[in-house]
Amino acid sequence: MPEMKLSCDCGALKGKANIAKPSIGNRLLCYCKDCRTFAEQLGKGNQVLDQWGGSEVYQLPINSVEFEEGKDNISCLRFGEKGLYRWYAKCCDTPIGNTLGANMPFIGLISCIYCQDTSKDAVLGEVLGAVHVNSATSPLPMDDKQKQTPFWLFPRIIAKLLMWKLTGKANPNPLFTNGKPNCQLTIVSSPTELP
Ligand SMILES: [Zn+2]
Ligand SMILES: [Zn+2]
Repeated sequence: MPEMKLSCDCGALKGKANIAKPSIGNRLLCYCKDCRTFAEQLGKGNQVLDQWGGSEVYQLPINSVEFEEGKDNISCLRFGEKGLYRWYAKCCDTPIGNTLGANMPFIGLISCIYCQDTSKDAVLGEVLGAVHVNSATSPLPMDDKQKQTPFWLFPRIIAKLLMWKLTGKANPNPLFTNGKPNCQLTIVSSPTELP
């Protein structure tokens, strides 16, 4: 099965994602404020964000992801009690990805964690479109399809989530054990309160 290598910037955390074919997941641009704040607070804004403040994510079933080395470096924070779980490698502050919760069969990997894999475009396919386009820091170019939200994008995301849930893709889960994150979780009540 084709796999994509995962690595933090310093190389202490290493893993892989098994991706049978690009259509298994959703390669997206997200322009939401929280994704942007997360990248900036980790000091990775220059690396992660495009000129409109968007980050690239690849959503796939969580049980397709494995971390093989340096798992102790995995850390997690949430913006508020109901925020997404936002994972990063504390050795070098590389964003890893976002998850909804322990029982949700989903992770949105942030491009940093797979950018060192030179075959990523072949494994992931093209960017399908963008979400939260109204939160971009400046108007997105109208002639760039990858920076629009096609009408089928949200139905596709929801259909995949349901299918992954029905087919038990929440386990094995490399980030949660018995419903709890495997690492210490920091909850910040608002992004501006991050250290
Ligand atoms: Zn690192
Ligand atoms: Zn976002």
